Amino acid sequence: MVTQRAYKFRFYPTPTQKRQLTIEFGHTRFVWNWALETRTKAYKEHGESLNNLNLSRQLTELKKTECSWLSEATAGCHIQKLRDQDTAFKHFFAGRTKYPRFKTRHQAQSVRYQLDQRHVEKNFNAKSQRLKLPKLGALKLKWSRRIGGIPKMVTVSKDPAGRYFASMACEVEIAALPTRKNAVGVDVGIKEVVITSEGYKSGAPKYTYHSARQLRMAQRRLSKKKKGSNRRRKQQQRVARIHARIADSRRDFLHQQSSKLINENPVICLEDLNIKGMLRNSRLSKAVADCGLYELRRQMEYKAQWYGREVLIVDRWAPTSKACSECGTIHESMPLKVREWVCPDCTTRHDRDINAAINVLNFGTAGSAGTDKARGAVKTPRAVA
Ligand SMILES: [Zn+2]
Repeated sequence: MVTQRAYKFRFYPTPTQKRQLTIEFGHTRFVWNWALETRTKAYKEHGESLNNLNLSRQLTELKKTECSWLSEATAGCHIQKLRDQDTAFKHFFAGRTKYPRFKTRHQAQSVRYQLDQRHVEKNFNAKSQRLKLPKLGALKLKWSRRIGGIPKMVTVSKDPAGRYFASMACEVEIAALPTRKNAVGVDVGIKEVVITSEGYKSGAPKYTYHSARQLRMAQRRLSKKKKGSNRRRKQQQRVARIHARIADSRRDFLHQQSSKLINENPVICLEDLNIKGMLRNSRLSKAVADCGLYELRRQMEYKAQWYGREVLIVDRWAPTSKACSECGTIHESMPLKVREWVCPDCTTRHDRDINAAINVLNFGTAGSAGTDKARGAVKTPRAVA
C-alpha cells in the first residue's frame, strides 16, 4: 500500500542559521498576522472574503513599498504561510476550529519550505543525509530513521523548549504484515494503560511520578521569578523542557504499545471511550490525560491502515465491565474499586480488567456472540493492501 508517512528529525543549527531562522520565523509570523488582519478587515468593512491569491498579490505590493525588509526572508515561506491560513479558515468555516488567531513569538514557531522537485537531488538526499534549504544552507539533522522517499515540503520548527526540528512527509510503500487468525480485545485504563483479553498488562509510563515532582518544583521556582526578568525567561525554558521530555516519553510509550498490538494481532477490538466525560471527573482527569488514551486509539487506527489490520470499535454502552465473560450474566453494578470478583452464576474468578478486555473482544467480534450485546460494534473500513 502506498501511503503518506511523516518524519520528524531534530537538528542543531549553526549560530548563523539560528539568526536566519529567527528572521524567517519573525517574518512569516508578520505575514500571518498581517494577512489575518487584512482578511478580517475586508470582511467586516466590505463583506469581502479574501483568499491566499488576493493576499499574495497584496503582499507583493507591500514588499515593494513600505515593507521592503520582508525580502530578507525566503519568499516561498510567505506563500506557504498564506496557504496555511487558508487551511485554518477552511477548518473554521467547517466548524472544526475556532477563528484563527494572531501568533506571538512565545509560541512554537514554524516555517515551511517547498522543495523544488526539478533539482531536488541537489538539496535533498537521504542516503548522503543531506538537506539544504534556501538562505540556510545544509542543515545538521539527526537522521534517526531511514526515510523512504523524497518529500515535497519541509517544515522547520522550534518548540517552546528551544529545540529545532525538520519535519517532512513522503509517499512510501508499506508491505502488509502477514495475516494470522487471532483477534484481541483491549481494555484501556489508568494504572495499566493497555490490558488485553490474553492477559497482557502494559503498566503505565514511569515518567508520571518522577517528572511530575520535577515539574512542580520548576513551576514553583518560576512563580517566584520577577515578571519580565531574564531569570524568569530562563526558568520558563526549563519548565518547557520538562514538559517536552514528559510528552516525548509518553508518546514513545504509546507507540510501543500500539505497535506491539498491531504487530501481534490482525484484528483489534477497542472500546469507544467517552474521554470528555472522564476528563470532567476531576480526580481521574490528570491520569487519563497523562495516558493519552485518545492518542493511543489514533495511533492504532492509522497503523492499522498501514499494515492492513482491522480495528473494531465497541459501543461504549456495551456492559464490558459488568458482564461475566464466561457465562454472559450481566451484574447490577461494578464499582471501580472492585478489582477482582467471582461470578455468582458460574463461579468464575475474574480480574476486572482482563474480564473487560475479553468482553470487548466478544462484543467486537460478535454478531455471533449474542445480538443485542453486540449492539453498535462499528467496523472501520479495511485498508486496501
Ligand atoms: Zn459467569
